[in-house]
Amino acid sequence: MPKYSFSCGSVGMNCGFEIKNASSEDELLEMLKIHAKSSHGITSIPSELLAKIKQNIKKSGKYSFSCASVGMNCGFEIVNADSEEELLDELMVHAKMSHNLSSIPPDTLNKIKQNIKVM
Ligand SMILES: [Zn+2]
Ligand SMILES: [Zn+2]
Repeated sequence: MPKYSFSCGSVGMNCGFEIKNASSEDELLEMLKIHAKSSHGITSIPSELLAKIKQNIKKSGKYSFSCASVGMNCGFEIVNADSEEELLDELMVHAKMSHNLSSIPPDTLNKIKQNIKVM
């Protein structure tokens, strides 16, 4: 499973607070509520700030995908890419060159995203 990390510095708070490798976004946000209250006097995080926080949460894990998981029998696999973006960029090249897809249709892309394995 991916690990979730956040530092207050990423949203412009210079308190030095960081959470590293929480096992879920929910876990991280629960801890952040405690920190926001005790260190920043924020009793409930405004939705604007929450959105900013979520954008700055770093997910770390290794991303893998095989064409077989979406029913393509080409045998293609990507193992342990560093991010979902990297994996999708690489997959785009494969889709173009091996499956003659100039772009991946949204429903196929959703299917692909559902089948990306994160370790
Ligand atoms: Zn802070
Ligand atoms: Zn393929």
